[in-house]
Amino acid sequence: MTNPDATQGSLRKKYCASRQPTPRVFGPNVGGERARLILLHGNKWANGTTLNFAFFDSQGPDPSWAGAGALKDQVRGAFKRWTDVGIGISFREVTDRASAQVRVAFQPGDGHWSYIGRDILKQGVDDRTLNLDPLDGIADGEYGIDVACHEIGHTLGFPHEHQNPNAGIVWNEEAVYRALAAPPNRWDRQTTYANIIEKIAPDRVRGSSWDPDSIMHYPFEPGLIEEPAKYRDGLQPRGGISETDKQWVKAFYPVERPADFPSLALFESRRLQLQAGAQVSLVLKPTVTRFYEMRTFGASDTVMVLNQRRADGTEHYVTADDDSGEERNAYIRRRLQTGETYLLKLRLYYAAHAGETAVMWW
Ligand SMILES: [Zn+2]
Repeated sequence: MTNPDATQGSLRKKYCASRQPTPRVFGPNVGGERARLILLHGNKWANGTTLNFAFFDSQGPDPSWAGAGALKDQVRGAFKRWTDVGIGISFREVTDRASAQVRVAFQPGDGHWSYIGRDILKQGVDDRTLNLDPLDGIADGEYGIDVACHEIGHTLGFPHEHQNPNAGIVWNEEAVYRALAAPPNRWDRQTTYANIIEKIAPDRVRGSSWDPDSIMHYPFEPGLIEEPAKYRDGLQPRGGISETDKQWVKAFYPVERPADFPSLALFESRRLQLQAGAQVSLVLKPTVTRFYEMRTFGASDTVMVLNQRRADGTEHYVTADDDSGEERNAYIRRRLQTGETYLLKLRLYYAAHAGETAVMWW
């Protein structure tokens, strides 16, 4: 799956300007290991979630966001590439964008971009969460699928791999600014800095090693990278989702066995034995339709997600609360329907003392 443009100067193509996550500011009592774990696992989805995606049409807030069938097929193909890796997140196309978390637009000239992970939930129903630029030759071929795979990678919560501080890339910075200021990208210095030159905080990167073939890595033309010297003549990722990408996405989102999820009885306090980053899924079966409350207990940083299980077995996001970095506990109050099955999913970022976290609903 080699990009046919590899030898012709990758900057003829548009780069992705990912929407930067809101910087997290922690109180003075949150530091070190606790902050590191929150940053590493923040923005990721609860495993097992089905993400609904929808395309804008000509009736949408901006008719220029609608795309031709060939463009949509490229995006569908990219979702399938991630699905085929074998992960615990699934994707479903819906026509009603109000029920979609991922809203895909094809605005010409706006470049390729996505918000990172659960940041997409902060966007309104008339907002895009992901844009692909049809002026960049993405309507057919592997290049277009790779571009869509890269943006979906951001939607799954992954940052740019070329900003991995472990890469040890030394840029010819002025050459990078000049190259990106030229067409087709026309980026200002701040956009170039935030998407290429700035190193991601070591706390946010996925591993200790660098993967220049990652789908989350840009190609670079000759003259932009000074070190490692072997990339002075340019760097072209191999194309497609790399083996390291696959290992990494499966580490965060392993395939689950829903039949093994334990049930949590009403008023039962369940003590959780979780490693940092690990997740538990508990089955809730309300017998009365009313408002219920759910919360965690103990000194931990947890994201708690409520999903609903559909008749076809897929899980759909209802709501979530993230108490990480705050001196409070995750709490959800929600009306639940009798006869329905819900999953209460907790991902633990950090527990001051192992085993000292519990969860209950009432
Ligand atoms: Zn990107």
